[in-house]
Amino acid sequence: MTNKELADLIFPNITKTIEDYEKEYPARDLKEGAKVTRYAPSPTGFMHIGNFMATTISYLLARQSGGVFFLRNEDTDQARTVEGAVEAIRNNLEHYGMVPDEYEFRDLNETKGAYGPYIQSERKEIYQTFVKHLIEIGRAYPCFCSKEELEETHELQVKNKIRTGYHGRYARCRKLTVSEAAERIRNGEDYVIRFKSMGDFDEKFPFDDLVKGKVELPENDMDVPIMKSSTGLPTYHFAHLVDDHLMRTTHVVRGEEWLPSVPLHLELFKTFGFKAPKYIHIPLILKKEGNSVRKISKRKDPEALMSYYKELGYPREAVIESIMTIINSNFEEWRTGHPDQVYTEFEFSPKKMSSSGAFYDLDKLDNISKNIISKKKAVEVYDELLEWAKIYNEPFAKVISENKDYTISVLNIEREQKKPRKDYANYSEIESKIWYMFDALWNSKDKAREFQTIDNLEDIKKIVNTYFERYYNIEDDKEVWFNKIKDLAGELGYAREVKEYNENPDAYKGHVGDVSTVLRIAITKESMTPDLYEIMKLLGKDKMLDRVKDL
Ligand code: GLU
Repeated sequence: MTNKELADLIFPNITKTIEDYEKEYPARDLKEGAKVTRYAPSPTGFMHIGNFMATTISYLLARQSGGVFFLRNEDTDQARTVEGAVEAIRNNLEHYGMVPDEYEFRDLNETKGAYGPYIQSERKEIYQTFVKHLIEIGRAYPCFCSKEELEETHELQVKNKIRTGYHGRYARCRKLTVSEAAERIRNGEDYVIRFKSMGDFDEKFPFDDLVKGKVELPENDMDVPIMKSSTGLPTYHFAHLVDDHLMRTTHVVRGEEWLPSVPLHLELFKTFGFKAPKYIHIPLILKKEGNSVRKISKRKDPEALMSYYKELGYPREAVIESIMTIINSNFEEWRTGHPDQVYTEFEFSPKKMSSSGAFYDLDKLDNISKNIISKKKAVEVYDELLEWAKIYNEPFAKVISENKDYTISVLNIEREQKKPRKDYANYSEIESKIWYMFDALWNSKDKAREFQTIDNLEDIKKIVNTYFERYYNIEDDKEVWFNKIKDLAGELGYAREVKEYNENPDAYKGHVGDVSTVLRIAITKESMTPDLYEIMKLLGKDKMLDRVKDL
């Protein structure tokens, strides 16, 4: 029996050849230097911040070179597929504006691109054609080892202090003759197909990683499984070879956990005579915890999942921006010099990426975000706030959509000025900072007024009542308005200036600052608010009188 006959026995229905697929998926017609990248998630969970980092890099590389960025759904491990994962992937990419040029969403009947199918479970015949070829040339073979047999070998290796795995003389089924293998297949035995490695573990295997530079690992000598007969689907290693070759990927951006597999991957590419893509292995994302440093964790750190940022309502630019700061060490410097440019104008360089680990810092995200939100027009903040609230805070969405222009004016307080106020890091915290501007929330929120330096109710009432009876006038400009508060302070025995009070505290009941704080708390129940003049103007006298009558 020949290898070819064994291959036909295993794959009787595969009649196409690798050449057929080469013709079907020819080299892409792109300009010199154009990069073809992809996001290749397994739909086994939700988008992790590491996936997002890889996606951002892949997207940038394609956009900056006039290339192609595609999405491939790596769903070969069907038992681990999570419902809703594909939808979440799609929503995330759309949310961040990293829409792939090619993709396939089966449930939505949406496909784009000539290099599909883009869902691995739909590519079975293609993978099998490639596996069949390997069997024909004697570089793959069926392995019948049971789980127990593999465990036995493993234990033996551990006991004898030998490197574990299916290699060298421990690769039992490598020794079967083609006829023996055929016989066992005909008898209906279960098997997997393994790659037959020609590597020697004692030999060095140097290769280039665009981030880490020259890396030297031992050659691969493992006969890894490349296909399971039970599903007819490939393992990741083999699918990567076939897909990234036929989809003409030039740059693979993926997690560092795949670095040790590079010798195997390059051996696979070499066996087929294909040019391998360039690899960019992204570092682990780290978090500081007290004085120690650890890997960010899906279980412990809510910020490890991309849904966190959407739920809290961080503007998309802020999230991208914070990731850019860990992608390239010179990004922040570039940003200082180019404050208004979009991030895609920044030229990504794999060499400027940390190869040991990237610190992710939520305080930094908050700063970036506050800055970004402060620079937006009030109407833009309103639109994004409403978009967020419609999903995550419906009652608030109702209030602000019923009072659109008013809300925009509220959001505009201290905005259009040289140094705009930076007090919102995300959309979920806006309600807690402007709630008192809305009657509906004022009435529904059970919050007591906590007066501060002046806490005698008689004094408080005197300040508030005198102010509204004799001083407040909505027509006043800011200077007149403030002078009137000083006049009020003077009339009631408080210093008109803080300085005067400090020089002679015993002569006064307090100072003008205490008086305006009383007014602020009386009408907002908050001690820290933006500009009180603006707040009073927007609330209007009637509303304020209504609020202070129950003091
Ligand atoms: N499906 C693999 C993963 O999610 C993809 C790795 C790669 O990008 O090649 O880890």
